[in-house]
Amino acid sequence: MLVKISRHLKKLAQKSPAVKKQFFPSPKENIVSKKALTDPLLEDIYRKTKGLVHKYPHRVLIELTMNCASYCRFCTRRRMVSDIKKGKIYPADIKKIIDYLKSRPEINEAVFSGGDPLTVPRLLTTTLNKILVLPQIKKLRLHTRVPVSRPGLITKDILCLFKKINKKKPLYLSVHFEHPDEFTPQTIKALEALRQTGVILLSQSVFLKGVNDSYSVLKKLFTELSNLGIRPYYIYHCDLVKGAEHFIVPIEKEIRIMTKLRKNISGIAFPFHLIDTPNGFGKIPLPLDFWKFSPVRFRDFKNRPIEMY
Ligand code: SF4
Repeated sequence: MLVKISRHLKKLAQKSPAVKKQFFPSPKENIVSKKALTDPLLEDIYRKTKGLVHKYPHRVLIELTMNCASYCRFCTRRRMVSDIKKGKIYPADIKKIIDYLKSRPEINEAVFSGGDPLTVPRLLTTTLNKILVLPQIKKLRLHTRVPVSRPGLITKDILCLFKKINKKKPLYLSVHFEHPDEFTPQTIKALEALRQTGVILLSQSVFLKGVNDSYSVLKKLFTELSNLGIRPYYIYHCDLVKGAEHFIVPIEKEIRIMTKLRKNISGIAFPFHLIDTPNGFGKIPLPLDFWKFSPVRFRDFKNRPIEMY
């Protein structure tokens, strides 16, 4: 994955080590264990046509670009993100995506994710409008890190588009935040403008060693998000992805932090803590430390026993 850091984040990184660690490369990226995976979620196996991954029965992932406003060093799609040329989506690819959706009427949710769909606003507009009119699609979801990495990309056109889409079908917008330092005045302004469109705002985060693996940091982050009208939705255990292993926090530590948070913050500020299981077994919620459990053995949605690394 290439290095790309927006002007906004470069400036922020000067005073925030937590921001710097997320976007500036480290020599630790070259330390790769035998267990590390290139495609930990097996998305490449489930790619049905260029730009469309169909892994779960009722929803699909749509990747309109491999471009992002800045590249996060811990990205789970490191193998492909930043290869803009290879990931470029053409009108013929969109047609194939729509044809695939039509051929599978059980699909009722389309999720747009990374690369960042807000870095290709024209393509996003065309595709959203085409998918919106499919009667089978009941809700749309879009994941973005632009409010943090380049808030200027939340333009008037984007706000109008979201307002229009959300009037017709529910649009869930999941914004990606890792640390309270990311709340700059420009970011807050962009989030407030997004809230005014009426879209349903969620957040997702990843536990990252040396960035947010602390009770006080996450308490501030989740509280601030919920104060801004954003429902903290997911916090993931960092995937076992090649080049990002130095970000992984021990699961036991994460559970201790989450348990303390559960006792001390409002329920609406408390996200699901998940592990996206290696080798594509799905997103499994992690327990809080109120009960006896094993941090290395659990069962997936099909009741298959999974042994963690
Ligand atoms: S914005 Fe998302 S897709 Fe892009 S590098 Fe960061 S985590 Fe990966």
